[in-house]
Amino acid sequence: MNSFINNIYRHRYDLFFSLLLVILVGLFCFIIPKNETVNVLRTMENKTFDIRQNIIAKNKSVNKDIVIVTVDDPSYEYLLETYGDWPIPRSVYAKMLDYIQAQKPKYVAFDLLFIKNLKRIPKSDDALIEGFRKYKNTFTAINFDDYSSELRVPPILSENIKTNININSDNINIYKFPNCRTILPELIEVTQNIGHINTPKEDDGFLRTIPLVVNYPQMNKDNYYLYMTLKLAIDYLNKYENANIKEIKIDKNNNLILGKRQIPLTENAEVILNWYGPSGLESDKTFKYVSFWEVLKSIEAKENGKKQLIENDFFKNKIVYIGTNIFSLSDIKTVPTSKYFPGVEIHATLLNNIIDNNLIKKANIKYNILICLILMILASYTAFKIRSVYISVILFTILNGAYLYYSTYIMDKYNIWVWNVIPLILTVFIFVCSYIIKYLIKSRDFEYTYKLATTDGLTELYNHRYFQEKMSEKVKLSEKNNSQFSLIMIDIDYFKKFNDKYGHQAGDAVLKYVASTLKSCVRNEDYVCRYGGEEMTIILNNTNNETAVNIAQKICNTISSKKYPLTPDLEVKITISLGCATYPKDGKTPAELIEYADKCLYNAKENGRNQVGSPNIKIS
Ligand code: GH3
Ligand code: MG
Ligand code: MG
Repeated sequence: MNSFINNIYRHRYDLFFSLLLVILVGLFCFIIPKNETVNVLRTMENKTFDIRQNIIAKNKSVNKDIVIVTVDDPSYEYLLETYGDWPIPRSVYAKMLDYIQAQKPKYVAFDLLFIKNLKRIPKSDDALIEGFRKYKNTFTAINFDDYSSELRVPPILSENIKTNININSDNINIYKFPNCRTILPELIEVTQNIGHINTPKEDDGFLRTIPLVVNYPQMNKDNYYLYMTLKLAIDYLNKYENANIKEIKIDKNNNLILGKRQIPLTENAEVILNWYGPSGLESDKTFKYVSFWEVLKSIEAKENGKKQLIENDFFKNKIVYIGTNIFSLSDIKTVPTSKYFPGVEIHATLLNNIIDNNLIKKANIKYNILICLILMILASYTAFKIRSVYISVILFTILNGAYLYYSTYIMDKYNIWVWNVIPLILTVFIFVCSYIIKYLIKSRDFEYTYKLATTDGLTELYNHRYFQEKMSEKVKLSEKNNSQFSLIMIDIDYFKKFNDKYGHQAGDAVLKYVASTLKSCVRNEDYVCRYGGEEMTIILNNTNNETAVNIAQKICNTISSKKYPLTPDLEVKITISLGCATYPKDGKTPAELIEYADKCLYNAKENGRNQVGSPNIKIS
């Protein structure tokens, strides 16, 4: 525990700077516009969703009961040829409805708007209205919008097609539309099978979600309308899966409850679609398309008793969507798995999602944060614990790759969308930070060990080994540069006696005092070392003998002129003896220089101590 605290203390600056770094990044995130950041992150996250969708779509297959009859470019050409302009008389749809219904399909849904004020031909319209009255498994659409009531008075819709919803969530914000384009009012009277077909687009132009419920308030009263395919799906579940759905409910967790089924909604009452791949127009693996003109030709052939283009029971037990996919009618969307995706196929996709119960659910934010934390801990662990940079970078890449793989897997297996972008950004950030901290600590540790290896613990002077190293270094350098340097050797006088009299503790204190006095008398670039015991040395850079002797004399005077307060009421006097040597005059190797300085020091002792010894005294 103690060493732990010591460690923290030793690394206090590193910890402080790391904390500062984190705070600065935090501040930076705070300063840059929040909405912008959120938008950028959301767009990036959506892109990762698209990538995952494209990967998992390869393993998915569609419900082969769903087929699409489409007014494609050749059909459009054929219709213009036959009827002169668009839209065509509604009796054509009525005829087609009769033809398909004769084959006993499960459902027929028109992803078309039978607009009231557009080219009304009463007899022709009546045929279609009659069709809707006759076939209870036929659906069609209405579209809400937000045009001003000045431009168009919002129509009052019959109660017949709205749906009561039991909303138990406080966190749901259902789209509100102030206006609506009127469809044939008689249609609304004969069938309840009319749902909205409003689709929102995201900032990046992609369509990923569908609002299952919208609100068209009238006289301050909320009126809820279901998406056309949701209406169809509810009927399907009741009829073919005995779902027994009586009321439509949104629970407090934003799930749309359909009998035993829960459909996860976003806060706008939208569902996130789970795509099956490219449009059926481009791929045989997805929904089957038939051209509108082929059906019309088959009807003609049937009437004339000729061979039909489409088999006789092609629509039997099928769920048939009828819509358009021509650019001039602009019902083409961009979706994660396809650049050109007909609006009608979005209905097919949603229905397939509801039947297969595989609509996408966004993971709860708590789980996303947990994932971020786990990844950050692992990233930081790899940075700190793995010695090799290469291996830790490889492991880090594997960690993120594994997470991306896993996030795709759980979207495939559990239809859950977990964040990719934020966890990745955070792990990279933490990984880099961990490396910075690791190297800061390493360099501190190195400094600390270096200090331990080169200094003496008691006096905090350089130790004997360091002194010898520096001497060799100085000799080499001075030889190369043709310069000189000096060495002073110092020995405390009668130190044994001092120890005997006042004890070793007092002796230690005096050693420290002498050491610090020595340091204060020389320049920073000089080296003050403890040679051993009570002997110390000073290496004076670029200093000639005369200066060295002067400095030695100054030191000698400084020590002897002061009294050292041993205890509050005891002051002692200390003296030292010194000897000097200068490279290259007095010796050309460290050993020669030390010997020379030692000889001078000996002379000082012999001559009565408390002085700088001269080399010339004769030793008796
Ligand atoms: P001289 O004036 O001739 O130098 O006499 P001296 O007593 O100082 O000489 P000597 O070299 O015989 O004694 C050195 C003494 O220094 C011996 C030892 O007790 C003491 N000494 C050496 N290292 C330490 C130390 O780290 N702490 C203390 N308190 N004393 C030390
Ligand atoms: Mg000695
Ligand atoms: Mg001594």
